[in-house]
Amino acid sequence: SLTASGRAARTGLAAVARRMRELEEHLGALDAVAADGDHGTTMTRGIDAAVDAADRAGPDASDVLAAAGMAFADAAGGASGALWGAGLTTVGNAIRDAPGDGPEPASLAAALEAAEQAVIRLGQSQPGDKTLVDALHPLVETFRSAVADGAGIARAWERAASAAELAAEATADMTALRGRAARLGDRSDGTPDPGAVSLAAAARAASAALTG
Ligand code: ADP
Ligand code: MG
Ligand code: MG
Repeated sequence: SLTASGRAARTGLAAVARRMRELEEHLGALDAVAADGDHGTTMTRGIDAAVDAADRAGPDASDVLAAAGMAFADAAGGASGALWGAGLTTVGNAIRDAPGDGPEPASLAAALEAAEQAVIRLGQSQPGDKTLVDALHPLVETFRSAVADGAGIARAWERAASAAELAAEATADMTALRGRAARLGDRSDGTPDPGAVSLAAAARAASAALTG
């Protein structure tokens, strides 16, 4: 049976899946502005497979997230599938030695930093390129600084989700330098990056699930 951390990871993933279903059409429409319009279906396909894999994995959050990441990448395809797969798997592997009741806040902060590095390495993108990294970077930085200020995991997630939401909206003012949207130059100017929007929405859904 699952440990407390394994249960929390599954609950968070399931909440993300529900939110992605709600946002599927919206994310597709954002992606259609300057790319191929599939971001909503890519995210729902990936997160549904991640939840299925999570239901068969355990007992710890580490096992759940590593399995979820591999399933996400396999099922979703596309740029975002590979990046989400790498991110989730990296978090899972980074908390491998945490006790069953879950990682310490500082260990989770370090795991999130490792995930950001994995995503940046795979996508060859930096903050400012108008990708999901523009939401992920402030999410990770805010989580880390909240933990440094003494916040627990739930409170740090809450602040991190708020930072990611603001940052995702702010990508509307950027010009795409990476991913499909970059091929059309400034076509996406004025529209937020779909991958940044979905990442921020996922962070918010996971945060709400953690705080109950
Ligand atoms: P695809 O572009 O393969 O159709 P999606 O539409 O599912 O995949 O995802 C598009 C999102 O993926 C973009 O909005 C962006 O946030 C993210 N993305 C694409 N390429 C990169 C990259 N090289 N680095 C980081 N993020 C990227
Ligand atoms: Mg796309
Ligand atoms: Mg595509």
